[in-house]
Amino acid sequence: MKTHSGWWVKTRESQDLGPYPTGSDAREALHKHIQTHQDQTERTFSIELSHGMAVHDVATCSKQTCALCHEALSLIAGATDNNSQRS
Ligand SMILES: [Zn+2]
Repeated sequence: MKTHSGWWVKTRESQDLGPYPTGSDAREALHKHIQTHQDQTERTFSIELSHGMAVHDVATCSKQTCALCHEALSLIAGATDNNSQRS
């Protein structure tokens, strides 16, 4: 997914991948991720995008690194380009 802060690969693990400067960087990371998680590939990327940001709750999100939270928090923080991974 593309956000104003870069490209992210959403995963079902505790950490999303990103941000990446371009979509192809994100795709490359996605392929590596799939190789790392061969045994669960099909489920790994049943992406939640259909739900989108509207239903995503930063307060209850359990991910350590989450694209949606990153986007939400950076929007809250304004224009600051903050890539820290505080949870
Ligand atoms: Zn989140």
